[in-house]
Amino acid sequence: MNSSDDTSGFAELGLRKELLGALATLGYEEPTPIQRETIPPLLEGRDLVGQAATGTGKTAAFALPILQRIPDRGGKAEPIALILVPTRELAVQVSEAIYKYGRDLGARVVPIYGGQPIVRQLQALSQGVHVVVATPGRAMDHIARGTLPLGNIQMVVLDEADEMLDMGFAEDIEEILKSTPDSRQTVMFSATLPPRINGIAKRHLRDPLKIQIGLGDTKPGKAPLVRQTAYVVQRSHKPAALGRILDIEAPTAAIIFCRTRTEVDQLTETMNGRGYRAESLHGGLTQESRDRVMGRLRAGTTELLVATDVAARGLDIDQLTHVVNYDVPSAPESYVHRIGRVGRAGREGTAITLAEPREQRLLGNIERLTKQKISIEKVPTVADLRARQIELTLETLREALGSDDLENYHGVVDALAADFDIRNVALAAIKLAHAATGAIIDEKEIPDASQRMDRDKARPDKGRPDKGRPERGAMRDSGRHDSGDVGRVYVGAGRKDGVNPGDLVGAIANETNLSGRDIGPIKVSEHFAIVGVPSGAVEDVIAALKRTTIKGKKVTVRRYTE
Ligand code: AMP
Repeated sequence: MNSSDDTSGFAELGLRKELLGALATLGYEEPTPIQRETIPPLLEGRDLVGQAATGTGKTAAFALPILQRIPDRGGKAEPIALILVPTRELAVQVSEAIYKYGRDLGARVVPIYGGQPIVRQLQALSQGVHVVVATPGRAMDHIARGTLPLGNIQMVVLDEADEMLDMGFAEDIEEILKSTPDSRQTVMFSATLPPRINGIAKRHLRDPLKIQIGLGDTKPGKAPLVRQTAYVVQRSHKPAALGRILDIEAPTAAIIFCRTRTEVDQLTETMNGRGYRAESLHGGLTQESRDRVMGRLRAGTTELLVATDVAARGLDIDQLTHVVNYDVPSAPESYVHRIGRVGRAGREGTAITLAEPREQRLLGNIERLTKQKISIEKVPTVADLRARQIELTLETLREALGSDDLENYHGVVDALAADFDIRNVALAAIKLAHAATGAIIDEKEIPDASQRMDRDKARPDKGRPDKGRPERGAMRDSGRHDSGDVGRVYVGAGRKDGVNPGDLVGAIANETNLSGRDIGPIKVSEHFAIVGVPSGAVEDVIAALKRTTIKGKKVTVRRYTE
């Protein structure tokens, strides 16, 4: 391992130096598989259809080739790339990523989505931007107003294309593609490739390269037999969730994999703050420091090794009891590789994966590849943690009761027994022993976000209907949503107001982090509509719809009860 700071894997892909600098600052050590495969052909100008879910690094896969073409500073910027995304949340996320990667280039990017005052977007557009990230509906609005100049567009990206089709944006997408120059490069990324995606590709892409990530060379069933669990939490709750999970698991020695150097350093600090002896291992360390870290792990003075894949390559550590994926790895092969570090030679091992709600699909890919189950567990509660801490104290006391130097303390017990009940003496001693374990008392519950996983599982991708799925404006099928708990929301606008199901799905998906698949059944009557959403999300949806307008109007929104 060298101690260089370069991101040589990215340099080999042919990226310009400003981008390499930004990636190094972000702590990216090497390209993910989708990046390695798609960046070179995209730089050459090829059209491409990539099958990749969130969490694979697909955003950088299309963002970096776009940024490669940003003209040198000076002059007024005109959009050279248009990225279409299904939701407002994704529009913001993709814009932020482009801003981060393109900082040294002075790249200007703007997200454009429904629900945000159009005036702000008009302002941003008129000041000049290089990249526009838009939801299809809002992009159409701007095209109709003539406020989104498309004449200089060199690249169009359809991100999460299947989701956009699910949400009824097919016609808008076709229209938008027709409004951009024929000479453009067109790129589609989609987690699934239903026939309708191929239809768009046939009509609008030129000899596209097809790239599929996730089902590589690893033979099914090769993963070692370790206990495999996953927890689904929002990103902001990850550090606390991991702390609590490890408190409960009480690993002898664990390796925690992160995506970037920056994340490695931050998490090491967090875990040290929680009372763990944690050390960082990443590509920026010299061989000497690496050896020292490994020595401390082997000697048992370090319990947690927080590492990037690059740094952990070739490491063979006998003591490991746990492997933690702080994020779902960007390719299933990498998961198999990582968890292969525990459960060796017949010993018990545990693999723990933290997934964000949007990354759950990747867990399914891994299960399909390994033909092994990853059980989704609930994030431990405060009560779970307390119970486990007592259990650990009990174990410590049992061990102490077996030791042969108890005699030394007879005098203490005798002295106290004169004045106190012997049971109370024991309780006081236990209290001290418990406090001495340094048990952290968390007071806050950590929200578990795994609910939607069960819903997705009930509807595996393969079984999802592709054909005959209603377009925008048609009634959405009501059978798809019978698996999870569905809550209902009343919306005080209906057919007479020109509202159709696609508008409601679009508004909700734009304003919340629900996706098209989570929403339904929808019934649009003359004067009002009833929309089914996951019951846990009802309040969020109501708040979101109150914030926005439907068909340009504020409407009454409330919980619907029969
Ligand atoms: P995406 O699949 O595009 O949503 O990306 C998932 C996450 O991986 C994001 O947090 C990115 O910042 C991160 N990421 C993307 N590419 C890399 C890379 N080559 N190395 C480390 N992290 C990455």
